[in-house]
Amino acid sequence: MLDLTVVVPLFNEEESLPELCAWVDRVCQSEGIAYEMVLVDDGSTDGSWDVLKGLSKDNKAITAVQFRRNQGKSEALHVGFARAKGSVVITMDADLQDSPDEIPGLIAMVVDEGYDMVSGWKKKRYDPITKTLPTKLFNAVARKMSGIHLHDFNCGLKAYRLEVAQAVEIQGEMHRYIPVLAKMQGYGRIGERVVQHQARKYGSTKFGMSRFFNGMLDLVTITMVSRFRRRPMHLFGTLGLIMFFFSGIALVVIGGLKLWRLSQDLSPGLVTEDPLFYIFLISMVLGTQLFVTGLLAELVVRSGKRKPDYLIGETINQG
Ligand code: UDP
Ligand code: MG
Repeated sequence: MLDLTVVVPLFNEEESLPELCAWVDRVCQSEGIAYEMVLVDDGSTDGSWDVLKGLSKDNKAITAVQFRRNQGKSEALHVGFARAKGSVVITMDADLQDSPDEIPGLIAMVVDEGYDMVSGWKKKRYDPITKTLPTKLFNAVARKMSGIHLHDFNCGLKAYRLEVAQAVEIQGEMHRYIPVLAKMQGYGRIGERVVQHQARKYGSTKFGMSRFFNGMLDLVTITMVSRFRRRPMHLFGTLGLIMFFFSGIALVVIGGLKLWRLSQDLSPGLVTEDPLFYIFLISMVLGTQLFVTGLLAELVVRSGKRKPDYLIGETINQG
């Protein structure tokens, strides 16, 4: 049994790869760690794949997988996790911003301290402010919404028990929320470890400002989906009821005012002249739409074969 699988997603990182592989090898050899590396080439258009071919020839511990086109870091991690065989899985960026020297410490936390996963924390970052500032905000929101107390959700350097890595279902840009996904699956022992961080040595970052918007939208998706995926009506129905409540209030006020004016022998006026009428109208329409959306979502959830989305931890006395 292997002790460790190092999963590395990479997209156009040809310059860093030889250095990275040599470094991981050096650390594992000196610590006596039986390891493998799974490098997933996420559709690189530079010479990365050729470099990987050469590296995997020299070192049999290296497995390389290539996507036909760029699919995103999450998909690359997913493939890496699926192929991992080590009892601990560590993910690492290919750009040498994460240091392989952290490997022994991370393994110790998973194996000896019993964490389901350990996330790196780049306490001192060597990134431009355009990146660190949005990241701070993003982490604060993620902390609040998930209840997981991590400083750095999106650190590329993370360690997992094999079982945990294979239980998280990452797609889209969800790699930013692996701790949230792990917690959702019932792996709540999530630790944090301060790790060294280097400035990018070669190439440039693969995520622009889009990281911020996509990241926030994914956080909304993830929280909503985790809570309401089997009962969408509870979400849409509640919003619909709120809308109907508003329209009801507007209706009562409009009617009441009209009656009051009549009783005072004032001219009642047209309801369409009352701004409240439009609030009534809009809330009514929105509420109906929300209800219909909820019903449709319930139909979608109930159609098709249901794949269980629970994981069984342990079973005692199975016959
Ligand atoms: N990456 C990837 N697919 C992509 C974009 C990035 O596999 O579509 C890899 C990239 O090669 C690197 C890691 O994901 O190994 C982190 O990317 P990057 O260093 O650009 O992100 P940053 O450090 O700026 O957050
Ligand atoms: Mg990087």
